[in-house]
Amino acid sequence: MSWASKLSKSYRIDAAKNFKLKHFDPASTAHVQSKEHAQELLAKGIAEMAEYQDRLYAQDRWAVLLIFQAMDAAGKDGAIKHVMSGVNPQGCQVFSFKAPSSEELNHDFLWRTTKCLPERGHIGIFNRSYYEEVLVVRVHPDILKNERLPESLVTRDVWQQRFEDICGFENYLAHNGVVVRKFFLNVSKKEQKRRFMERLDSPEKNWKFSAADVKERQCWDDYMTAYEEMISATSTKNSPWYVVPADNKWYTRLVVAAAIVDTLKDLKLEYPTVDPNRRKQLLVSRAELQKKK
Ligand code: ATP
Ligand code: MG
Repeated sequence: MSWASKLSKSYRIDAAKNFKLKHFDPASTAHVQSKEHAQELLAKGIAEMAEYQDRLYAQDRWAVLLIFQAMDAAGKDGAIKHVMSGVNPQGCQVFSFKAPSSEELNHDFLWRTTKCLPERGHIGIFNRSYYEEVLVVRVHPDILKNERLPESLVTRDVWQQRFEDICGFENYLAHNGVVVRKFFLNVSKKEQKRRFMERLDSPEKNWKFSAADVKERQCWDDYMTAYEEMISATSTKNSPWYVVPADNKWYTRLVVAAAIVDTLKDLKLEYPTVDPNRRKQLLVSRAELQKKK
């Protein structure tokens, strides 16, 4: 088994009826001896990822969608920035999803993200996603009213239906060659407070502070329940969740990188081969090029 597979598989959930977060320690750094060891592995992971991405792009068959969800200050932005630092920007696109615009609210909840799905040969990253629908919207059901669904459709089954629709959508993507991997960056409430304090205390981090994030923190337990139910309902073999320890940023980045490398490796990506006819054409072009000045 590769290092990436070994490291990522203990955080991978691909079938869970009753997932409980209490079994996942946000501060875990298991599988590495030290921060330095983790940094070495991360560098290796980033290099492997670059190589696989090159083949993904050349082969032009699969698309890869990486979804990031987390509480505020869990390190989504940093993880995306560091882990993807080695990939070719031409084959990669990041989309961030905030509170929906009025145009987005005029459509079904999958509309805005569907428009941003990665092309074949590309890696797409969603910084937040359609999963906000069963997180922030579920924790604050008032938000659902903004969607103006017909009243008869808003029953107590609405969240269960959302889960089923998401699973159906992700199966559809799987059947169409879009490989979905989902990351929940699991930060502890205590570490989140420490990071908020740091944002208040360091002038160069003040810009990151938002009073709204502190308000959201008061709903912590509701969010954790929503995350547990979401992971229980939407973890599948095709589209697994990774519950990534997020109290140590250097470990978070390593686990995310390992999961991506493992995913790309499993695709058995190959450069397209050239058939004999095409090879003949290449030889002709070569001879012509050589003849000319
Ligand atoms: P950062 O704070 O690091 O810049 P962020 O992803 O937290 O990044 P913000 O602009 O602070 O970006 O927050 C986006 C907000 O939009 C979050 O609170 C999120 O819950 C909310 N949001 C995202 N999708 C939806 C949705 N479908 N309905 C309502 N709110 C949403
Ligand atoms: Mg924010």
